[in-house]
Amino acid sequence: MIQLKDIDVTFQNKGQTVTAVKNVSLTVNRGDIYGVVGYSGAGKSTLVRVINRLQRPTAGTVEVSGQNILDLSSKELRTARTKIGMIFQHFNLMTSRTIADNVDYPLKGSKLSRAERKQKVAHLLDLVGLSEKAEDYPAQLSGGQKQRVAIARALANDPEILISDEATSALDPKTTSSILELLKRLNKELGLTVVLITHEMEAVKEICNKVAVMDAGEIIERGDLVTIFSKP
Ligand code: ADP
Ligand code: ADP
Repeated sequence: MIQLKDIDVTFQNKGQTVTAVKNVSLTVNRGDIYGVVGYSGAGKSTLVRVINRLQRPTAGTVEVSGQNILDLSSKELRTARTKIGMIFQHFNLMTSRTIADNVDYPLKGSKLSRAERKQKVAHLLDLVGLSEKAEDYPAQLSGGQKQRVAIARALANDPEILISDEATSALDPKTTSSILELLKRLNKELGLTVVLITHEMEAVKEICNKVAVMDAGEIIERGDLVTIFSKP
């Protein structure tokens, strides 16, 4: 599903070369809930931004659903990106639009009619348990509810992959658990492949079937959950 090979990412910062990602290879299979865990600055965000070419790697190859992402034209890239949903720590909702409008936003570029879009939005809100909130505004919602809206929006174009970049980091433990449970349910029910970036080991333990541990740009440990956490 996702195959990253020998990825390097370096930045030029005030004349200094910063290596954010160093020689990382990572394979995510369809149906995985793959955790990428590590401290702040380990290179997690940079690595996952490579998956949808928000970040071009300095070296290495990137394949998503059999496509070489680095070779796509900008039009092909737009199509490829609709297959990858993203959610973030700060939700990134449009505050002056209703919940329904926020979820509808990515559908504006689709071929669906207005009525079909409306039906789709209702379905997506139902999926994340927010049907009652359709006409509310983001400010009226709790953090967990806002993240559910962001998830519904990320799923609007029926992506195969959902990337969660510290999506639970601003939430309390109980809300975190409910969001993680939702991701697990979506993985099961929709066959959604999930890449979960987090500095919270507990989140990874809760739902991931595979884990890569990053430190200073490198993967220092990886495997299935049992193998990693049973090491002395
Ligand atoms: P994480 O997601 O694990 O917190 P990041 O991928 O955000 O780590 O950052 C990894 C390293 O790369 C950090 O040292 C960060 O400062 C650096 N970095 C990330 N993006 C840039 C950029 N656009 N320009 C310069 N340095 C960057
Ligand atoms: P996250 O919270 O996801 O780890 P950051 O707050 O580290 O993200 O970074 C936010 C954005 O700033 C990203 O696009 C990242 O590439 C960029 N960035 C991070 N570190 C630096 C840096 N040292 N110089 C320039 N840009 C950076």
